[in-house]
Amino acid sequence: MQYFTDIGLEVHVELSTRTKMFCGCLVVDPTVAQPNTAVCPVCLGMPGTLPVVNKQAVAFAIKAGLALHCQIAERSIFARKNYFYPDLPKGFQISQYELPVAFEGSIGITTSQGKKNIRIRRAHLEEDTGKLEHCNQQGETYSLVDLNRAGIPLLEIVTEPDMHTIEEVRAYSQELRLLLRYLEVTSGDMEKGAMRFEANVSMRPNDNEALGTRVEIKNLNSIHSMEKAIAYELERQQKILEEGGAILQETLGWSETRSETFSQRSKEEAHDYRYFPEPDLPPLIVEKTWIETIASEIPELPEQKRVRYKAEMSLPAEKIESLIQDKSVSSYFEETVKRSGEITANTVANWIVGDLFGWMNESGCSIQDIKVSPAELVSLIQFHEQRVINKNSAKEVLHEMLQTGKPARQIIQDKGLKQVSSTDELEKTITQILQKFPEEVSSYHAGKETIFNWLFGQVMQATRGKGDPQIVKVILKKMLS
Ligand code: ADP
Ligand code: MG
Ligand code: ZN
Repeated sequence: MQYFTDIGLEVHVELSTRTKMFCGCLVVDPTVAQPNTAVCPVCLGMPGTLPVVNKQAVAFAIKAGLALHCQIAERSIFARKNYFYPDLPKGFQISQYELPVAFEGSIGITTSQGKKNIRIRRAHLEEDTGKLEHCNQQGETYSLVDLNRAGIPLLEIVTEPDMHTIEEVRAYSQELRLLLRYLEVTSGDMEKGAMRFEANVSMRPNDNEALGTRVEIKNLNSIHSMEKAIAYELERQQKILEEGGAILQETLGWSETRSETFSQRSKEEAHDYRYFPEPDLPPLIVEKTWIETIASEIPELPEQKRVRYKAEMSLPAEKIESLIQDKSVSSYFEETVKRSGEITANTVANWIVGDLFGWMNESGCSIQDIKVSPAELVSLIQFHEQRVINKNSAKEVLHEMLQTGKPARQIIQDKGLKQVSSTDELEKTITQILQKFPEEVSSYHAGKETIFNWLFGQVMQATRGKGDPQIVKVILKKMLS
């Protein structure tokens, strides 16, 4: 029996607003802030306090919704989702339930099987919970609670069960993250929990129309963990189905250390949460003109960039992908191309993807910290293209530019790196080398052609790497014959 897989994802995205969803507390970096320092009576759930909606969070949700080709609800409703947990001081979470702010969208993905669309069912606003830290000190176990995160705005983006392979899950998650980072609505920083995933996974016999019973795997903190969890789950489900068993609908956790899913609870139903409209907030009314303003602020998105780079610059797909993965890198690239004159976009791309990325990896710099402006990079590339310096020198100069921020011209001058392309000078050097190695010259003449490269190397060394390799080759050949 062959089985078919269906996967739907729920992605929680922390919106990068300055303040929380329903109060004025700052959103703080969890790796820096002391626990429970960014809290107030509202996000601590004190009696008598009232929530106020963060307009910026709504704007971000609309922006994301539009970029995901969703319809935007001109009227949506906040609801109370009731449950008790120590990280939820109010005893309920304010979320959107029946009427989300965005719905019925889609996003295009590319896998080894080609392009396809994943449908977005809904995207709704809600508030984050606090964070528990479970401790064990010499057998004494206890939990600490940090409420800095409680009340941070989240956008929950839910797909239809349109993914059928782990590769599609990866492509969707990466494309979604890229899109949201282009929109600057989230940092997308998974190490800091700014994007968290829940995967709904089911299997059915190939000839079955109806979806199989699903499990929901919660609290996946990275795309990589999610892939491992789904792979584990598919194997487990297939085995059960093959043995004639039935899949239990339940909520699973994922243990990173044991690399397995484990049952957390049987599936809760909507009625378990006793949803009802949040009595302390009016319906969220979004005016058409506001939606239009936000739409006009959407920048060029990754997919548009891919198409344009291909059409305007005929760059290979792989290079385009490297350049667009970071919006700032792509801006830097475009700025450089704008100034590059005769130099092709492909040449510029090679310098950025090769040497600049190499430096960024090595130094831990991001493109914003780089000391070489697009104009200076162009000037370096020009020195090389006009054969003032050879490739090795150019790499050396760029390295120094990146370290010191000095202009290319100055470094070339200071280091005396100007390429020797004067025929007279090179002829002199080559004559000396040929005189120095008479045996090698004879064996070249006797037919051992590989010796040519060796002689070439000797000449380049004698010029201390500054000989113009192409001219050296021509003269050497001429003088040998
Ligand atoms: P809930 O809010 O209770 O988790 P939803 O019905 O809203 O449930 O679905 C949540 C996610 O589960 C969606 O992404 C949806 O596509 C996915 N899903 C629903 N049924 C299945 C199924 N049988 N197999 C895989 N995914 C599913
Ligand atoms: Mg769910
Ligand atoms: Zn607060």
